[in-house]
Amino acid sequence: MGAQIIDGKAFAAKVRGQVAAHVARLKADHGITPGLAVVLIGEDPASQVYVRSKGKMTVEVGMASFEHKLDLDTSETDLLALIGQLNADLKVHGILVQLPLPKHLDEDLVINSIDPAKDVDGFHISNVGLLGTGQKSMVPCTPLGCLMMLREHHGSLSGMDAVVIGRSNIVGKPMAQLLLGDSCTVTIAHSRTKNLPDVVRRADIVVAAVGRAEMVPGDWIKPGATVIDVGINRIDAPEKGDGKTQLVGDVHFDSCAEVAGAITPVPGGVGPMTIACLLANTVTACCRSHGVDEPEGLTA
Ligand code: NAD
Repeated sequence: MGAQIIDGKAFAAKVRGQVAAHVARLKADHGITPGLAVVLIGEDPASQVYVRSKGKMTVEVGMASFEHKLDLDTSETDLLALIGQLNADLKVHGILVQLPLPKHLDEDLVINSIDPAKDVDGFHISNVGLLGTGQKSMVPCTPLGCLMMLREHHGSLSGMDAVVIGRSNIVGKPMAQLLLGDSCTVTIAHSRTKNLPDVVRRADIVVAAVGRAEMVPGDWIKPGATVIDVGINRIDAPEKGDGKTQLVGDVHFDSCAEVAGAITPVPGGVGPMTIACLLANTVTACCRSHGVDEPEGLTA
């Protein structure tokens, strides 16, 4: 293996440390405690795990955590009423509605009912527009985490060729905007892209956000390129013989690590950075709402 491993777990711990230090300063100098409200509808096991670990880490960095667990059959009216209360609550600086939502709830309507200043997921249409026009916004956590790792590894990204595989609103598109903001030459590839291997082969930076286990093999990677693997896929692991599943990315790690200059592992790469960036966004939102200095290096 030739590639340097980009340790997202260690970097996320560093980011959480920076967030905790800023929270301590906000408390000591201004008497402000940043607060994050997380709304979970239904009992999807994966979502419950995410919400629990978000709540735990929120408290660990010294912020207030408000969890709202609603029944699966909660009506849109009741959910919008709760979001209205959280929008008005001065103790709440960040609001996250855990996705995906049950089918009877209109995701766009729900997301766009969140106060954009408290939209720590960065999915509100106002934040999407601000990001797209290069203005100060709340930036989606997963692409923000990827950007931070790339900046940490490379310093400047200016002039680099970047290929983002995947065009979702939560990862692919905002990732492309962020790379463009850092002066990369950006290509967004997707399910209809022709000659995907050739497109990926010209990239100095590859961000894979597809949701297909190990679909990017090493012979698609330009020697020395940096590979950021956003994918989280569970596959059977019969060789382990314990009947359990294994977590893998969208990138075939072993073959890509032979060729790449640097690569993020799954698990332990992008995943931990996503939650760290949620905490960073909450402290940023809190500082902006109170008109006090926001932490440096924790946003785009
Ligand atoms: P999505 O399903 O919304 O989007 C997938 C994208 O992949 C689509 O734009 C589609 O065009 C593209 N695609 C599908 N098949 C393709 C193919 N054969 N070739 C090229 N492109 C193809 O998924 P998403 O929400 O963007 O998530 C992508 C992956 O990232 C998933 O595995 C998800 O679990 C993971 N994810 C991880 C984190 C994290 O914190 N690490 C956060 C969000 C998403």
